[in-house]
Amino acid sequence: MKNMTQKLNKSFSLLVVGLGLIALPVVAQEKLNPTVEAIIKEANTNSQLQRLGHELMDGVGPRLVGSSKMTQASDWAIAQYKNWGIEAKRENYGTWRGWDRGVSHIDMVAPWTKSLEGTQLAFSPSTKKTVTAETIVLADVADSLAFQAWLPNVKGKFVLISMPQPTGRPDYNWAEFGSKASIDKMKKDRADATDAWRKRISKTGLSAAKLAQALENAGAVGVVGSLWSNGFGVNKIFAANTKKVPTIDIALEDYALLFRLTESGQAPKISVFAQSKELGVVPTFNTLAEIKGKEKPNEYVMLSAHFDSWDGGTGATDNGTGTLVMMEAMRILKAVYPNPKRTILVGHWGSEEQGLNGSRAFVEDHPEVVKNLQALFNQDNGTGRVVNLGGAGFKYAKDFITRWLAAAPSYIRDTVKTNFPGSPAGGGSDNASFIAVGAPAFSLGALNWSYFNYTWHTNRDTYDKIVFDDVRNNAILTAILVYMACEDPERMPTDKAELPAGPRGPQTWPTQTKAKRAGGYDN
Ligand SMILES: [Zn+2]
Repeated sequence: MKNMTQKLNKSFSLLVVGLGLIALPVVAQEKLNPTVEAIIKEANTNSQLQRLGHELMDGVGPRLVGSSKMTQASDWAIAQYKNWGIEAKRENYGTWRGWDRGVSHIDMVAPWTKSLEGTQLAFSPSTKKTVTAETIVLADVADSLAFQAWLPNVKGKFVLISMPQPTGRPDYNWAEFGSKASIDKMKKDRADATDAWRKRISKTGLSAAKLAQALENAGAVGVVGSLWSNGFGVNKIFAANTKKVPTIDIALEDYALLFRLTESGQAPKISVFAQSKELGVVPTFNTLAEIKGKEKPNEYVMLSAHFDSWDGGTGATDNGTGTLVMMEAMRILKAVYPNPKRTILVGHWGSEEQGLNGSRAFVEDHPEVVKNLQALFNQDNGTGRVVNLGGAGFKYAKDFITRWLAAAPSYIRDTVKTNFPGSPAGGGSDNASFIAVGAPAFSLGALNWSYFNYTWHTNRDTYDKIVFDDVRNNAILTAILVYMACEDPERMPTDKAELPAGPRGPQTWPTQTKAKRAGGYDN
């Protein structure tokens, strides 16, 4: 029913029936280009999105740089492409510290028993066996000298280094049920506590990384933090700073419990078993696939989405969904448009999360693609329908993007807000790597579906958060944009528009940053 009504072009005709007037929709299809029709049909009748999503997110799992899962994911993607008759390959550009996550078990064993919700951070050193010890809270000292004097107290203990959140309820829940006075008080208490904790860390005289290392060097058996993501049950899971003992993140509820018990002198004890495997120095790579152009093989239209993820969840919306959009669009294009005018190339980038490293390396290594790029479309902000498409600061982008977008059916096109000339991306995702060298790279901006609190880099970024209707919408839109950009008789000029002044003064074009081609040991 939904598809049926979506296909209507919103024109209605009035029919006279008997004595009354009733409005009936005319089942008139929008006049679409036959290839566009074929793209939509293939996407709707033969969708591979759920299968691909299940195989990648559930079968392979998270795709941390340097992990064997990242290699497994690349092998999987290459096999999918080959199966669709599309050439695909892995292209190494550097090395990283190799590390595979093992199990994490965290339990409170005193003053009472409770299994705690938590996990080790990425690249955390492992425990040989279960370690049971008391907790201690990072002390509020006067200065770095006082910190050094206090430091021996951590010997044989797990050190709690995060602020306990005064509330585990997200702000929207307070806004729905709290009195104005209690909301104001909660926000003030939280802001004061956050400020005081920031000062507590800064008075040690050490950065976050150096602090973790000072604690382990003083004999702490582990570092315990909690990085709440401002929603029920969500924590962000990043990388450890310790080199010898584990760093674990514990969910807000359990962390605050431990913190209160420690502060009230009840000497809680936790048992931690954290396993992982160091793999030495391993290659880092991009995974690329290509449908060669027939008429202009040396001109390129690119699809782009980073392939790596953090590993607290399975990277479903960051950036599993962007990956699914690009793979499905490639599959559809190969099926209905196997002989493109220009070459279609997809980049599934490595190590975006450590600083756009895969795409920056590709830009450095492939000037022949960059200088002959008609357009690149990148998607990397979650599972939602694409609603924003800007001109990235290019003077003539408006003419091209407007006509490419016009080929999409109204139910997809009308929800996309365009913005010209737009602003060149200075960072955020892989389109910025291309923008930095003046190549036309555009961001497909999606509806957020509570992305920043609930899924982005969190322990809850999992398959169940994927909204497949929206991902299918985006695969169709991407395939249409790529098809139109391939067929366009003209190349998009890369002249830069005069950029309007931003809130912080005149805007300048972003400059290129070198790819980090080795890393993982210097946190
Ligand atoms: Zn991302």
